[in-house]
Amino acid sequence: MTTGPRYITGSIDSHAHLELLPRRGLEPGAMLAEARAEGVAGIIDVGVVPSDFERRVAAFGSQPIVSFTAGLHPTSVTPERVDEELALLAQTLESGEGPRRRPVVAVGEVGLDYHHSADHAGLQIETLERLATLASRHELPMILHNRASEPEMLAFLRRVRPTGVMHCFSQDEHYCADCIDLGLFVSFGGNLTYRSSHGIRAAAAMVPDERLLVETDCPYLSPQAVRGAANHPGHLAYTVEALAAVRGVSAEHVVAVTSRNACALFGITPWSEDEA
Ligand SMILES: [Zn+2]
Repeated sequence: MTTGPRYITGSIDSHAHLELLPRRGLEPGAMLAEARAEGVAGIIDVGVVPSDFERRVAAFGSQPIVSFTAGLHPTSVTPERVDEELALLAQTLESGEGPRRRPVVAVGEVGLDYHHSADHAGLQIETLERLATLASRHELPMILHNRASEPEMLAFLRRVRPTGVMHCFSQDEHYCADCIDLGLFVSFGGNLTYRSSHGIRAAAAMVPDERLLVETDCPYLSPQAVRGAANHPGHLAYTVEALAAVRGVSAEHVVAVTSRNACALFGITPWSEDEA
């Protein structure tokens, strides 16, 4: 089986960390040129700390298929730095609205992660609420990360009711039903394809078409078929095919609905070579 890039025309990857690809031996510039030539309609490049934004825009801002978010990953929330980080993020969101800037399309990724660091559990919640205030001030959706923090995340969602997406959904159909009821989009990544991911597949089967997104989360979470290799935007096809299989629809249908939803959520238009 080939494990090379398999770009899908018209697809939008709702969550990628392009700047991390070189650490895994991949060259994002060449991959983006290839993705564009193959008709990929969009890639959402997701930030993890506010200070990465300028660097990412400098590196990938000339690529018309890439849209940028700015965020503060919960594992980077510390008492010493949080105020400074939030101030820089606020500044980025404001300057991102200027005429010469690439607009920020979402606040993310942000969220709760008690797997990597439960030390600052309370601070993570408080920070997430401040991030939600920033997102709503700028009318931006949130890209939510949620690991080993399910009850706290649900309580936050019920309290704040943010617009956004639960990225790399990793729980089960019951948790997914709550996310849907609370108005969120739900995005699936490569872990959908892992043999033990029964709960994630049950969730993927029940998300309404109009709330479904797909992502690579590259360079993390390579799908089963390429597990062990660095993940990249050209691996989206494996997750699209797995979504099609669990939902009993065609891959083309999955691409059509997930791209339409990504455009609606992030306020972007699908890139097409015809518009160049
Ligand atoms: Zn991510």
